[in-house]
Amino acid sequence: MTCCDCKKDISFLEQQRSLEKYGVALCQRHSSLIDKIRRNNNTPLEAVQLYYALKEAGTNPMLEWWDGHKSIDIAISRVKLNIEVETEYQMLTHEQAIQDLEEAMHSFKNGFTTIRIPSVVIKYYLADTVRNIQGIMEGLKANIKVI
Ligand SMILES: [Zn+2]
Repeated sequence: MTCCDCKKDISFLEQQRSLEKYGVALCQRHSSLIDKIRRNNNTPLEAVQLYYALKEAGTNPMLEWWDGHKSIDIAISRVKLNIEVETEYQMLTHEQAIQDLEEAMHSFKNGFTTIRIPSVVIKYYLADTVRNIQGIMEGLKANIKVI
């Protein structure tokens, strides 16, 4: 078994431990790196799983990318796509809703597209989620002018 991030060989124990924790096989170094990122940004577990699934699919994602206003769960800079993983959609307040709209406005102004994905979708339909994001990327790529 190898680490999903650096492809380094990992022991059975390391593999078990990180699979249990993230559902992804990671070496010690990347486990603690992900722990640190999650501690600092309150990153949902599903964002980590989606990040590695997108990485595996060759999309070059970035985890917790700072856009100048806030940290984005996952960003794919090549096509200026921001992905936010929603975990508290049952508790959406009007303050949160208008804040989301403001953030969408800021990112659109900068040429970024933001999509919000409920964490349950990632949990139950990871492969479909990745396929749909790849489709969105193709659409965005077609719209980006080549300079
Ligand atoms: Zn690693």
